Amino acid sequence: MKIGVLALQGDYQKHSQILSQLGLTPLLLRYPQQLQEVSGLIIPGGESTTMRKLIDANDFRQPLLAFARRFPILGTCAGLIMMSHLLDDDPRVNPLGIIDVTVTRNAYGRQLDSFLDELEVNIDGKKHTIAASFIRAPIINVVGSDVEVLAHYHGEPVAVRHGRHVGLTFHPELNDVTLFHQLTFGSY
Ligand code: GLN
Repeated sequence: MKIGVLALQGDYQKHSQILSQLGLTPLLLRYPQQLQEVSGLIIPGGESTTMRKLIDANDFRQPLLAFARRFPILGTCAGLIMMSHLLDDDPRVNPLGIIDVTVTRNAYGRQLDSFLDELEVNIDGKKHTIAASFIRAPIINVVGSDVEVLAHYHGEPVAVRHGRHVGLTFHPELNDVTLFHQLTFGSY
């Protein structure tokens, strides 16, 4: 199974490695036409304001929305911000509205306030304890009624599933956590 990683900006290399580790074939996507070659997509962490500019400059917006109607997308950190519905803090990010949550960017503070901690994840009644890196992470403020929260951190939702899509406020790939890649792309 070939899975795309949006490679306009951010932490796409590490996601490719995780996909290979799982026996999936990664494809770094730089052009919208490449979406036709993959049956799943990762929108990585990075900087959402920059990512938004590059998505629009490279004509990715409509193809991404069409892709999301048929195939699963995993968004991590800035990737989740791009997949969210509405942002309450920055008009420069015009998110795609694929996952029904609203977020606040950089909600834990500055780069120096980034941290690594343990997280308990609950998937279909099964618990997993994982390490999670939060790097200038957003906070999810509002969760739509069709959105399932898979993990909380200090009471805040940090991992969500909306239909076939999964969004995380942290970076699982930096701690070699494969759980969410497996969950999104069907090998869980
Ligand atoms: N702070 C970044 C943003 O707002 C997200 C950081 C990340 O992806 N690790 O886009």
